[in-house]
Amino acid sequence: METRENAIAMSKADFRKIGYELINTISDFFDEIPEKPITTNKTPKELQQLLKHSNLPKNGLPADNLISNASKLLLEHSLFNGHPKFFGYITSSAAPIGALADLLAAAVNPNVGAQILSPMATEIEKQTIKWLAQFIGVSPNYGGVLVSGGNMANFTAFLAARTAKAPKDIKENGLLSMSKQLIIYCSKSTHTWIDKAAILFGHGTKSVRWIPTDATNKMNISFLKDTINEDLKKGHQPFIVVGTAGDVSTGVVDNLEAIASICKTYDLWFHVDGAYGIPAAIVPELKEMFHGIQEADSIALDPHKWLYSPLEAGCTLVKNPKHLIDTYSSHPEYYNFNATEDGGSLNYFEYGLQNSRGFRALKVWLALQQLGENGYTKLIKEDIVLSKYFYELADKQEELEAVTQNLSIATFRYKPKNYKEDNNYINTLNETLLDELQKGGEMFLSNAIIEGKYCLRTCIVNFRTTKKDIKECINIIVKEGRKTHNKLQKQII
Ligand SMILES: *Cc1c(COP(=O)(O)O)cnc(C)c1O
Repeated sequence: METRENAIAMSKADFRKIGYELINTISDFFDEIPEKPITTNKTPKELQQLLKHSNLPKNGLPADNLISNASKLLLEHSLFNGHPKFFGYITSSAAPIGALADLLAAAVNPNVGAQILSPMATEIEKQTIKWLAQFIGVSPNYGGVLVSGGNMANFTAFLAARTAKAPKDIKENGLLSMSKQLIIYCSKSTHTWIDKAAILFGHGTKSVRWIPTDATNKMNISFLKDTINEDLKKGHQPFIVVGTAGDVSTGVVDNLEAIASICKTYDLWFHVDGAYGIPAAIVPELKEMFHGIQEADSIALDPHKWLYSPLEAGCTLVKNPKHLIDTYSSHPEYYNFNATEDGGSLNYFEYGLQNSRGFRALKVWLALQQLGENGYTKLIKEDIVLSKYFYELADKQEELEAVTQNLSIATFRYKPKNYKEDNNYINTLNETLLDELQKGGEMFLSNAIIEGKYCLRTCIVNFRTTKKDIKECINIIVKEGRKTHNKLQKQII
């Protein structure tokens, strides 16, 4: 066989040897995660020094050394969100099958932008999307596209909403041609993607109406209605309402049914941001909470959160996928991508912002089958039970004040015994405590501000966490809380 002298190719024997070694290293890593510190205590400067070569190497280096060196760097100096005591933000422990899937996907390297370039991968992505719709309990006729994460999933839906609701010529003439201002509605607790979308798509952040929340932290529906009416009176054009299914701070799900009904009355696009919480709709006991998602014109969800997919994987679902095609399809002369109609084929570049696309569906598709509906229901339910346990233990512990618990998010704060009610001090104390806990490497949580209270926040999307971990974490928090309080007291005196 003729081959080119080529340092980037690898012989079969080399690939096997290096590959098996890497797989061994990774298997050990998965096994040892619970014993590792969650994060490195090295500064960026110290980490830079570990990288040795400051300039791009002139000549190539042997692959086996490179892979073993990269493994060492990453396995010794990373933050491990797969650790059983990792509860920060909303980043899950990644399913090991996802790591294998990414290896396989990269090896085959299909370009899932066009059907002809990714025959089987396109079908797998289509099936994944259908399964995700079934998973959350909407019609399998929803169509969509996998994207890099929640932000992109929301952006993708947002532009489709605008194409659907704005005057037909908006694609040609842009926003400037419009006599009316297009208005966006969302609750006060909506994730920051909405501001980015308003900027990105040229609306400006003043087009966003942040609707206050009620006592249960859900969007205040009568306020929403009043605001829409006011905007109509002013001559604006409302076009989209965003309902949140699991808000990022406290996990509250909006009254989706009520929002759906308002959208129907005023002919607005109903978008649900379910990036974090919507997988919980698979739990029979929680179906009620998500009532109304079946009405959504579009839904954003994030397999790299509560479906335990490795980063990155987000998904946009649209009730009528024609709206994605209307928004994103283009047919330049250099594409010969006429997908065959047999079996309803499609080209994913026409469904979203990306052109060349990786095969992120594989890891999601495999995990969905590895666990099945029942497996996912069980894991998600357990995460919720563990979060409630966290809240209960915080509630019982004298020096902790339990604040909220929804889905798998609990919030609470440290309050020293016999300390006078001084909210400013308690906020500073908890903020300092959070820093200490994050640096400490024993556990990892994040924060939420709830009605002026700086809270510690734990979000469990972690199949490795057990009750024992939570009991230990409560002890760590109290111990560090006392230490931090003492330290701050000395500084005050
Ligand atoms: C996490 C999250 C996002 C952003 O998702 P990314 O995957 O981080 O881009 C948007 N909305 C909600 C409700 C989220 O929880």
